[in-house]
Amino acid sequence: MACNEALKVQAYFDGELDAAAALDVERHLGNCAECRTLLADLETTRIRIRAEAPYFRASGTLRASLAQSLDREDQGAVVMPMRARRKSFFAGAASGAAITCLAAGLAVFAILPRSDVLVDDVMDAHVRSLMSGHLIDVESSDHHTVKPWFAGHVDVSPAADDYAQQGYALTGGRVDFVDNHRTAVLVYRHGAHVINVFVWAAGMEALPSNATRKGYHVDCWHKADLAYCAVSDTSPEELGALVDLLKRG
Ligand SMILES: [Zn+2]
Repeated sequence: MACNEALKVQAYFDGELDAAAALDVERHLGNCAECRTLLADLETTRIRIRAEAPYFRASGTLRASLAQSLDREDQGAVVMPMRARRKSFFAGAASGAAITCLAAGLAVFAILPRSDVLVDDVMDAHVRSLMSGHLIDVESSDHHTVKPWFAGHVDVSPAADDYAQQGYALTGGRVDFVDNHRTAVLVYRHGAHVINVFVWAAGMEALPSNATRKGYHVDCWHKADLAYCAVSDTSPEELGALVDLLKRG
């Protein structure tokens, strides 16, 4: 029998919960093996879809017809609480409308460019680190502590320089998981803002620069054989100043 919290775990996975509800789910996950398995299955499915689904640009005709279908669905939609909406989705999964909706959703996912997926993943990881209280694994402003710590925990060991004098204090590091990469994360503070800098061994991926969504800014770059993405809710100019320091450092 499925655990009563399974729907909440699904909503947590989809990023639909506020910080307090997300914390409740994380607490529940600590005690419920069934929900941990569910979450792991969802993660595995997402990783496989991202790794194996081909990306393509939809034709203008396909995009127009998708937009029309979605408009029609919107006009018929009634606003319901999240729980009720999910139940009715599953209850109506066999109906033609739900299948149309699902197909449209999959098609919209498939036309997202690769770098957009990366921006989403980096932003999700940033927000997750602030919500879950898992911001720092090794707390130190000393690069002699942080850099060797990475060497023992992840396959990259980026320079971990403190820029407190320029207003960007290194507070520590952690290991996180972004876009199928185990990443080293340098954590900086700038005033009241946290800046996460994700670093992984670069492949041939195109990196987004200067993306802004929901008040968060992302700036990514390649340096030597490493890929970097800095994320924060600080202004793009202030984020850019740290990015310049890291590029030169
Ligand atoms: Zn459970």
